[in-house]
Amino acid sequence: MIATVPATLQQAHRLRKHLRELQSEIDLGPRVAKSQLAHLAAEELAHKTAYDSVGKLKLKIRDEEGNLKQHNAQLAKFEKQLNEAGSPKEYEGKQSEIRQAKEKIGLTEEAILVAMEELENRTNALPADDKRWAEAQANFAQQQVDAKERMERILDDQRLAQEQLAHAETKLPADVKSQYDRLITRYGPDGLAGVNGRSCQQCRTSITEQQKAELINGKYICCPNCGRGLYVAV
Ligand SMILES: [Zn+2]
Repeated sequence: MIATVPATLQQAHRLRKHLRELQSEIDLGPRVAKSQLAHLAAEELAHKTAYDSVGKLKLKIRDEEGNLKQHNAQLAKFEKQLNEAGSPKEYEGKQSEIRQAKEKIGLTEEAILVAMEELENRTNALPADDKRWAEAQANFAQQQVDAKERMERILDDQRLAQEQLAHAETKLPADVKSQYDRLITRYGPDGLAGVNGRSCQQCRTSITEQQKAELINGKYICCPNCGRGLYVAV
């Protein structure tokens, strides 16, 4: 059976809309890949930060322990000097220095305790951080495999649709083809429209009974309102 012009337009419309969808999926690819990569980078940073904070806490504890040693040495020195104080005023001065040194010792010991507790918590959390990072890497690897397969499917689909479209378009008579080309250049896939009952699906304007009859008989009809190449949709 030889396809009528409207039937060919219907097929071309379907294929061109399908190709447009495929193209938008192809165009979306780099954006999706970029966001997946950004997610991976954020996970990597979170994992690194977890280890960095453990390292920083260990350093802080070492520093504070050094400070504690110094404060204790100072305290011992002041206590020794207290025994050797020559005057009540000197004695009182030493007592004040001893009080301050003890205060510093107390604060430093507290800081060490807080840091040690935090270190313990963070160290305990590291296996979960490792697990999360491993999962993020595995997810990313799977996403790459999926994206590649998906893109191959889309490209196969695109090739097939392009072949079918090229084949369908060869069925259009030369005079129709030139008008068709102009519509496609101007509107893309939307250069064609189905007629539902008598209503153009592009602009919702009705065509006449006569035009509908001609369309059914296979004649090339453009919508009198919007100019689209028509076919019978329903
Ligand atoms: Zn119309």
